[in-house]
Amino acid sequence: MDNEVDWEKRWKEGQTLWDAGKASPALKKLIEDEDTKHLIPSQGIGLVPGCGSGYDVELLATPERHMTGLDYSPTAVEVCRKIHPQAADKNYDFMCADFYNFEIPAGGYDLAYDYTFLCAMPPRLRPDWAARYPQLIKKGGVLIALMFPLEEKEGGPPFSLSRIVVTQF
Ligand code: SAH
Repeated sequence: MDNEVDWEKRWKEGQTLWDAGKASPALKKLIEDEDTKHLIPSQGIGLVPGCGSGYDVELLATPERHMTGLDYSPTAVEVCRKIHPQAADKNYDFMCADFYNFEIPAGGYDLAYDYTFLCAMPPRLRPDWAARYPQLIKKGGVLIALMFPLEEKEGGPPFSLSRIVVTQF
């Protein structure tokens, strides 16, 4: 796929400064807070596109909710499989594929979680990004999009977002 950022190269060279080495605190709060936890479908299948090293996939997986982390960098997926040897027992897995072009499971996903993925897209792909979720998520399913970073500035990482961009899509 034509993409200005060579993610595989970044992963190969260990240029993964965005990687916190743990799940996102905001997601943890969303899952644990009495006010918000009901928003996340408790059963079915979920997808984390651009999952990086997969900690959010691990956090979202429960015995009733199978999660798949998807990343098109083979090195990222290799890293995920290495640092999550327990994945199969804990009801999650990883898939190396392109978000825009992979086989969606019959019926679609109950849940998708997007974090630091829209900002990974060159702006010209944003409309495709927005069009892909309705294809992936079943009717009545849920998209949690945790938008970060939200700064009104040029640049990264690697394609900065703003409130205006986010509300457009
Ligand atoms: N969400 C993760 C990783 C963010 S970096 C975290 O918070 O740590 C963005 C990730 O998206 C990279 O690992 C990159 O390989 C992946 N990616 C970029 N474009 C993609 C695409 N079209 N399909 C699947 N993964 C993609």
